[in-house]
Amino acid sequence: MSRVYNFSAGPAALPVEVLEEASRDMLDYKGCGMSVMEMSHRSKMFEDIINEAEKDLRALLNIPDNYKVLFLQGGASQQFAAVPMNLLQNGKAGYILTGLWAKKAYQEGKRYGEAVVLASSEDKNYSYIPDCSDLPITEDMDYVYICENNTIYGTKYPKLPNTKGKVLVADQSSCFLSEPIDVSKYGLIFAGVQKNVGPAGMVIAIVREDLIRDDVLPFTPTMLKYKTHADNGSMYNTPNCWCIYVCGLVFKHLLRSGGLPAMKARNEEKAKLLYDYLDQSKLFMPTVSGNSRSLMNVCFVVNPDSVGSAEEKAALEAEFVSKAKDAGLLNLKGHRTVGGMRASIYNAMPKEGVLALIEFMTQFESEHLK
Ligand SMILES: *Cc1c(COP(=O)(O)O)cnc(C)c1O
Repeated sequence: MSRVYNFSAGPAALPVEVLEEASRDMLDYKGCGMSVMEMSHRSKMFEDIINEAEKDLRALLNIPDNYKVLFLQGGASQQFAAVPMNLLQNGKAGYILTGLWAKKAYQEGKRYGEAVVLASSEDKNYSYIPDCSDLPITEDMDYVYICENNTIYGTKYPKLPNTKGKVLVADQSSCFLSEPIDVSKYGLIFAGVQKNVGPAGMVIAIVREDLIRDDVLPFTPTMLKYKTHADNGSMYNTPNCWCIYVCGLVFKHLLRSGGLPAMKARNEEKAKLLYDYLDQSKLFMPTVSGNSRSLMNVCFVVNPDSVGSAEEKAALEAEFVSKAKDAGLLNLKGHRTVGGMRASIYNAMPKEGVLALIEFMTQFESEHLK
C-alpha cells in the first residue's frame, strides 16, 4: 500500500487511523455480523452510532444546549435554499460576497426574498475579506450570511462581522472543526462534511432552537424544514448512515488528538510553514496577503515577474502541477476561476505532507528560476 499526499479541496484526505478503523469494521461491525452500510437506521446499533457522533461533536465544539445538531443530506449547496426558507420572516437578508460559494448562496437567497449585498470583494477576484465593522444592516433583515472560509480563493474572516444584533449564518464547509469557535456567536452554522470531516454527501447544521420553527416560507418542502429533522433526530427519513458513522470516527479521532485547540495549533504551524516559504519565494507568490489568509486552503501562482509572458506562466504552472503529481503530491491545481495552484491542508494533512510540498517547490524553483 502506498498513500499519496492529497491536497484536494474536497472530497479530501481523511486520517489514516480512521480509514483503518473503518476497514476493520467493514465486514463485521462490533460483532453484529454486518457492516454499518447494511444495518437498519432504526436499529439500536445505529442509534448508538448517531447519538455518540452527536455527543462527540457537541464536546468538540462546546455546543450550547439551546442548539440542535442536524445531519442533513443535499450537501452544503442545499442549505443555500434551506436557510432563507427557514429563516426569512420579514423577507429580507444581508449577504457578504467573498467568493463563489457566498455568491451562489446569495443568488439562491434572491429567489426567496430580498437579498441585499452588504459588502463584496469581487473587485479583486475575492482575494481579501472586506471590512465588516460597519455594514449597512437594516432593522428588518432576518439574518446576515457569510461564507467563513473561502475554499476557492484561500481567504478566511480574521474576525466575525459586526451583525448589529442580527442572526449570523455561516457556511463553514472548509474550516469546520479546524479550530475552536464560539458557537453562541452564530444563529446557524452549516458545513458540507467532505472538506474537513468525512465522506461526501452530507451537511451538518448547528441551529439555534429559536430559529427552528413551523412558520417557514409556505412552499418549503417538508424535507427542507429544520423542524422536520430536529423533531426526528435527523432520522425523518433514512439518513446518510455510512457518512454519519465515519464522521463519528473522525470526531473521536479529534478528541483523542487533543480536540480543536490542538488542531488549531497544528493547522497554524502547517499554514505558517507554507506561507513563509511562499512569501520569500522568487518563483511563486501567494494570492492572499495579510490577515485574510486561510489556514486550510493556500492559493499561489507563479510570479508573473519571474516569467516572460502569461503563456509562459500558465505553462510553468501546468508543469508544476504535473511534476508534483509524479512526486506523490496530488491535486494541487487551483480552481478554474482562479487558476494557479491551491494546496488544501485540512486537519488530516500531516505536517510531513506540507514539508514535502515545500521541499518539492524549493527544488522546482531552483531548476526553473532564470
Ligand atoms: C465545497 C463547498 C460548498 C459546496 O458543498 P456541496 O456539499 O458540494 O454542496 C459550499 N460551500 C463551501 C464553502 C464549500 O467549500
